[in-house]
Amino acid sequence: MFNLAVILRESAKAEPGKPAIRHDGGAMSYAELDALSDAVAEGLAARGIRPGQAVGLQLPNIPEFVVAYFGILKAGAVVVPLNPLLKAREVAYCLGNSRAGALITWSALAEEAIKGAAEEGVTDVFAVGAPCPAAAPFTDLLKPAADRRPITPREGCDTAAIVFTSGTTGVPKGAELTHIQLYMNADIPGRLFDVRPDDVVLTILPMFHVFGLSSILDVSVRFGCTLSLVPRFDAGAALEAIERDRVTIFEGVPTMFVAVLEHPELGRYDTSSLRVAISGGAAIPAHVLDAFEQRFGVIVLEGYGLTETASTTTFNISADERRAYSVGKPIWGTETQVWDEQGRRLPPGREHVGELVTRGFHVMKGYHDQLAATAEAMAGGWLHTGDLGYVDEDGFFFIIDRKKELIIRGGYNIYPREVEEILYNHPAVAEAAVVGVPDARLGEEVAAYVSLKPGRKATEPELIAHCRDRLAAYKYPRHIEIRDALPKTANGKIAKLELSGLRSSP
Ligand code: ATP
Repeated sequence: MFNLAVILRESAKAEPGKPAIRHDGGAMSYAELDALSDAVAEGLAARGIRPGQAVGLQLPNIPEFVVAYFGILKAGAVVVPLNPLLKAREVAYCLGNSRAGALITWSALAEEAIKGAAEEGVTDVFAVGAPCPAAAPFTDLLKPAADRRPITPREGCDTAAIVFTSGTTGVPKGAELTHIQLYMNADIPGRLFDVRPDDVVLTILPMFHVFGLSSILDVSVRFGCTLSLVPRFDAGAALEAIERDRVTIFEGVPTMFVAVLEHPELGRYDTSSLRVAISGGAAIPAHVLDAFEQRFGVIVLEGYGLTETASTTTFNISADERRAYSVGKPIWGTETQVWDEQGRRLPPGREHVGELVTRGFHVMKGYHDQLAATAEAMAGGWLHTGDLGYVDEDGFFFIIDRKKELIIRGGYNIYPREVEEILYNHPAVAEAAVVGVPDARLGEEVAAYVSLKPGRKATEPELIAHCRDRLAAYKYPRHIEIRDALPKTANGKIAKLELSGLRSSP
C-alpha cells in the first residue's frame, strides 16, 4: 500500500516549522501545509469524492495549488492538473475524459472553467480568490480534521495524476501517472542532483505541467526543501524571488534561461545564493548554457523527459560526471535505447541517429481511455518518445530533434536545432525557432523566427547571410522573420507549431 502524499507527511514530521512554501514575502510551514491538505482531503471525502475518482486542479503557482494537490492525493483521489487559461471546451474535454467529480479553480479566470464544468455536469466547483458566482469558495472545502488525518491507502500502481499533453494531433491525451512512478521520479532525480533539505527551489515552471509538478513540487517536498513560488513566469519576478528567498536551485526551460540572462536590470539583483541550475523540456542552445554558467557561476545540468515519463528520463548526474550539451544518462532503474525505423537497436555513435525509446518505472500506465494511442506509444513494452538522438560510447544521450519537427527539403533532412544553434551564435539573437513551411517545389522550405536582444540590431538579410556562411546550401533558412517576441507554450517553450501554422494557439 502506498500513497505519494507520504512525502509531505514525512517532511512535516521531520521539520514541522520549516517553510514548505515561500511566496510574495509570505511563508507556509510544513505543519500548516500538512494540516490544510488534510482539511481538503476531509472536505473532498465529505462531498462524496471516492478513492480513484478524479478532481480537476486548475491554479497558477500559488500556495493553494500545493495544498489542494496533497489534499486530493491524501483523499486517494486522482489529480488532474489544468492550465488556468484553458477555454470552456478544453476544460470540459479534460474533465469529461478523466470523469472528474470536482474542480478546484481560480476565481480570476473562472468563467471558462465554470462553463466547461457545467457542460460535463461537474457541480462541485471551488474557486480560490475573490468570491465568484457559480462556484463555492475554496475555503468551504476545508474541513479541519481533529488530528492528523490518515492518508487513504492506494496501491503503488494506482493512478495518482492524469496529466494532459497539449496534443499535437488535436486531441489531448491524459497520461496516467501512478503513485510509485511519481514517487520514484522525485526520489531518484532528487538524489542525482543532490537535493538537500536546506535547498530553496525556484518555481517558475507551472506546477500544472509535469516538469513543475514532478521535478519541482514533488522533489522539493520529498527532500523537505522550500518552494519559492512565482505565480507566472516573468524574468524580473524570478530574479526578485531568487534574491528575496535566497534561492539555491534554478529549474526552467531554455527560454527562461534566455529571459533571465537578457533582463535589462540583471546586475541589480543578488543571485549569489544559486548553487545549481537545471534545464529541460527543450534543447538548451550551447551558447545559452555557457553564458548562464559564466554569468551566475553555477553549473547547468541538462535533463530530458516527457509528460509520459513524469518527468525525468535521462539526467546529467553532477558537475563531475556531466557531459556538457548532452541530456545525460538514463536515471537509475530505467532503460533508454536508440532504435532505427525497423525497431532495431542502433550502436553508439553520432552517425547512428534514431528514435529514443525507454522503459522502466518512470513510464506512464497509459493514456486514460485511449487504448489505440496507448498501444501505439507503448508498442512492444517500450515508450516511443518521438525524439531523435544518439548515444555516445560512454552512454550519454544527445537529442537531435523531434521526429515530427524534422524538415525534409527537396529530399534532404534538416534538423531545426542545428540551424537554431547557428542563429543563437549571432550576437544580436535572443531567441530562435526554425520550422518547415510548405513549398510547392521542394515540399518544405526552411523558415526561421527570431527575437533580438534588447538594444541590439540585425536585419533579416544579414541573419540569412550569417546562416548561409555557416551551413550547407540546402540547410540555411530562406525566410527569416524578426519578431518582438516568440510565442510560448503554457510551459514556456517556444510554440513551434504555432509558428509553422499548424496550431493556432498553445
Ligand atoms: P505536447 O505533447 O503537450 O504537445 P510537448 O511535446 O512539449 O507538448 P512535453 O511532455 O511537455 O510535451 O515535453 C516532452 C518533449 O520535450 C520531449 O518529447 C522532447 O521533444 C522535449 N524535450 C524535453 N527535454 C528536452 C531536452 N533536454 N532536449 C531536447 N528536447 C527535450
